[in-house]
Amino acid sequence: MKQPFYLTSLLAALLAPAALRADIQVIVSVKAILDSNGNWPSNTNTIGSTGVNLNSEQAVRDNIALTNTQLAAKGYPFRLSLRSNTVYTLSGFANSWFTGDARTAAFRDSIEAAATASDATKTTWKWHDDAINIFLNDSRSGFCSSPGSSRRTITVGAGAYDELIMHEIGHFLSLAHTHSGDGDGDLNDWADGDGFDETLADDADATASDINARYPAETQATRDNLIFNRMSYHSPQDVFVWDQLQAIVETVNGARDPECRGEGFFVRSNGSDTSNGRTYATRVATMARAAALSTSGNDVILIQGTINVPNGSVFSKPGVWTKWRSTAVLE
Ligand SMILES: [Zn+2]
Repeated sequence: MKQPFYLTSLLAALLAPAALRADIQVIVSVKAILDSNGNWPSNTNTIGSTGVNLNSEQAVRDNIALTNTQLAAKGYPFRLSLRSNTVYTLSGFANSWFTGDARTAAFRDSIEAAATASDATKTTWKWHDDAINIFLNDSRSGFCSSPGSSRRTITVGAGAYDELIMHEIGHFLSLAHTHSGDGDGDLNDWADGDGFDETLADDADATASDINARYPAETQATRDNLIFNRMSYHSPQDVFVWDQLQAIVETVNGARDPECRGEGFFVRSNGSDTSNGRTYATRVATMARAAALSTSGNDVILIQGTINVPNGSVFSKPGVWTKWRSTAVLE
C-alpha cells in the first residue's frame, strides 16, 4: 500500500539524525566460502543463548545491523560497516576451506597465507587491505588476529552466536579475554585476563549467578560489566568498559588504522594542546585543539571531565563528541 507523502517525509525526518551521525567506521570484508555446489555454509550447532546460524547473506547483514544497534544503544564511538555494502562469496574453492576448523590458528594462518601470497591470490580470495578480512565457513566459533602479531585475518564458522564477530573484532582491536585460559568446565581458575581494573577477575565457566556470588561487596553495575562483557565467554554480552573503549580507540588510531575510517581524539582539561590527542596519554586540553586535529567526518572527540567550550564557539567538525569516562559537562 502506498503511504501518504507526509508520512514518508516524517519518517525520513525522524531517521535523518541517526543517518547523519558518523562514528568511527570499522570496515569489515566478510567472505562466505561456498561448497562445491555453490551452497552457503550452514551450521545448526550454534553457541550459547544467543546462538545464530550465519547461513546466508541476510543472516550476515542482520548480524552487522544488530551489532550496530547494540553499539549505538551503549553510546560507543564506533560502528561496523560492510565494505562497499557487500557480503562477498568465494566459489570453486577446495572443500577443505569449506569444512576447515575456523577456531584454530592453523586454519587462520592457512587462509591468510593462501589469500595474501600475491596480488593474484588477493583477487581470487577477495582480500582487501583496507578492511578486516573475515572468512566464514561451515564450522563453528572463530579465531582472531591480535595487533601484536603480523596477522590480519578473522575466521568464523556459521555455527556462531550474535556477538561472535564483534568479539573477534574486539581481539583484532587489541582486547584480551576477561578470563585467562579457556573454559575447562570447572569453576577453579578465576583470573585477570585483560589487566584492566574495571573488569573483575573472571572464569570462562562462570555463570551470572557465580559472578554475583563471588563478588558480594561489588556493586551490581561492576558485576554486570563482567557478566555482560563482550570479551568474556558469558552470554548474552553487550558491554565494553571504559578501559576497553580506550584501548579500541587507541588501536584504531594506531595499528589498525588501515581497517578503520576516522579517529578518536582524547580531551581532558589536564591534557596538553601540543599533544596529538591520539592516545589518552597524549590527550589534548581543549575542544578547539581536538577539532583542529580532526580531518574526517568519522572522527570522534572523547571527552573526560569538564571541558570548557567558550560561548560562541562553532565547530563544524568532527561529527561526534562523546563522553567517555566520568561525566562530561559542557560549560
Ligand atoms: Zn575470544
